[in-house]
Amino acid sequence: MIVDHHFHLEEGPYNTHWLNRTVEAIAIVEEERGGLTAPAHSLAWMEALGAKLAKRLTDGCFSQEWLNLYLERGKKLGIKRFGIVDHLYRFDEFRAYYEQHMIVDETKLGRLQSYWLDRVNSCSIEPFLLVVRQAEAAGYPISLGVEADYFPGGEAELRRLLAPYELDFVIGSVHFIDGWGFDNPQTEYLFKKQDLLGLYRRLFELVRAAAGTGLFDIVAHPDNLKVFNYRPDEELLLPMYEETAAALAAAGVATEINTGLAYRYPVEEMCPSPAFLQVLHKHGVPVTLSSDSHYPDDIGMLLQEAADLAMKSGYKEVVYFEKRQRYTLPL
Ligand SMILES: [Zn+2]
Ligand SMILES: [Zn+2]
Repeated sequence: MIVDHHFHLEEGPYNTHWLNRTVEAIAIVEEERGGLTAPAHSLAWMEALGAKLAKRLTDGCFSQEWLNLYLERGKKLGIKRFGIVDHLYRFDEFRAYYEQHMIVDETKLGRLQSYWLDRVNSCSIEPFLLVVRQAEAAGYPISLGVEADYFPGGEAELRRLLAPYELDFVIGSVHFIDGWGFDNPQTEYLFKKQDLLGLYRRLFELVRAAAGTGLFDIVAHPDNLKVFNYRPDEELLLPMYEETAAALAAAGVATEINTGLAYRYPVEEMCPSPAFLQVLHKHGVPVTLSSDSHYPDDIGMLLQEAADLAMKSGYKEVVYFEKRQRYTLPL
């Protein structure tokens, strides 16, 4: 395994599922590294686990200890370059950008998204930047980035908002179509109300527009609209794949093989699909490999499979970024 160029340290909203998933991650990685000495599933084990969870909650996700769980585990898996990002919507500094471009009005969707933004927008970007730079200074091969949402018409504002930060890379993502966050399970009902092919046309239009802004080094998960398995016949998507791959190539923007959808969403397939990946290769679009992990036990998840798929599609190398410059590593 070579790179995991897109993973996160946390993701809300902070419901009981989140708490469960967090303690599960701690149990898995601590068992692996011998951090829990009591016999598994004994009361003493549970108390030790509870203490670790309490410490995690007190320290937050931007602590060296939490980040080290990812890095130690990733190193053991053979990851040679870590790309660490967080979603801009988590940070106070970018809240107005989201409020302006998401639907947050008094409609059902608006209220739901407003509630969501209120919960996930929870801190400043500064502790994130600091903890990642500290780990880099400690010797880990890290690229520091952010995952920014692309909104048409928001380009100038995003450029202004990102200008103060010295980042190794910026990922551009389309998680919103005309203000609707389509990968939020709570808004899945909206898929049933729309022309599916028209939605895919709009998604790829946005992906191409994002690539053309010059704001992004990587455009993430380029066919993530399939997240809940609402998919037209792929034959009908092939011309959109062609046009999108050509636009990425022309803009000199990379994309990724992102395994997140394959292991934690109903579609159970990586982004891009195998057919789309072949089209991307034909157009010479560079790729990197990403687990899109949000917990330390998911780092590197399915990335060997992703690398195999890349090689099968003709790729011989993957890319990573440092100080906004692109470098390659052989597969
Ligand atoms: Zn994403
Ligand atoms: Zn992500």
